[in-house]
Amino acid sequence: GIDVATFGETMAALRADGPVRLGGAMRLSAAGAESTVAIGLARLGHRSRWTGLVGDDETGELVLRTLRAEGVDVAHARTDVRGPTGLILLEQRIGDLTRVIYHRAGSAASFLGPEDVLPALDPLPKILHVTGITPALGPGPAAAVRAAVECGARVCLDVNYRSRLWGREQAAQTLRPLVPYLTVVVASDDELDLLAPASATTEEDQVAALLAAGVAEVVVKRGSAGASAYTAKETVHHPARPVRVTDVVGAGDAFVAGYLSGLLDNLDLTDRLNRATATGAFAVASSGDWEGLPTRRELALLDSLPGSTLR
Ligand code: ATP
Repeated sequence: GIDVATFGETMAALRADGPVRLGGAMRLSAAGAESTVAIGLARLGHRSRWTGLVGDDETGELVLRTLRAEGVDVAHARTDVRGPTGLILLEQRIGDLTRVIYHRAGSAASFLGPEDVLPALDPLPKILHVTGITPALGPGPAAAVRAAVECGARVCLDVNYRSRLWGREQAAQTLRPLVPYLTVVVASDDELDLLAPASATTEEDQVAALLAAGVAEVVVKRGSAGASAYTAKETVHHPARPVRVTDVVGAGDAFVAGYLSGLLDNLDLTDRLNRATATGAFAVASSGDWEGLPTRRELALLDSLPGSTLR
């Protein structure tokens, strides 16, 4: 069986060390929030499945080959001729600030529909993971998310608001109706208002409203300030792991992989956050969204003494 099934858009990613408009060398890889979660879980030894559409092109092959190589099940992923594989350009600007440029409108992935994702949820995975990016890609992907959350598995939603794709009002209108189906909510501290009722204005009220609506766990990401997790019984705050920042893109997705891994391993709330902040730290300490994510053996590396050599 599958531990975690997820779906969404994974694009070809080109990374430049300086401004894209100056040209020069770039590094090519694959990038997508959901597939980063799937890779993170596979590295930790869980069975993960990613489903999505890529173009009938070489970058689509790159996406599928990358996921296969990482041990992610892509049995239900396929190529589609209605559009190309999406492209994301990442340029390193001042310091560790990364700017993202999308070429994804009309991509193959924007044609994803319920018929593509429902077969990938049979038999039911232990957990279905979706993000708030997918419904922003178009009516088909939005319908796919709506249909999938009703599958009967425990559902985890990472709000992952993308201002380049849609406005906050539209995001809130689309995401709030999903709440009754959600078991785990992951959000940045400035994203809770997109899921909670507008009448709730403080984090405390927003979390309380989500728990009252049936969500079992609300997890709030705070970047270098760490994360918090709330259930009906417990509240846990966890600091971030101190690491030298190389590339913050993908930290949130790596964090989700660690959190879900902890859930699958039946860790308690504190230990789930401990694992999530560890995988998040690996992501920020290494270049690329998923390349630096830890294997299960590597998880303990963060606890070793600074400057030590591991033999
Ligand atoms: P992104 O959208 O870039 O993937 P995000 O905004 O969804 O990120 P963040 O809150 O930035 O998510 O990061 C997720 C988690 O990763 C944090 O809760 C923290 O545990 C870890 N993390 C993020 N930034 C740092 C940092 N500078 N140092 C150590 N850990 C970090």
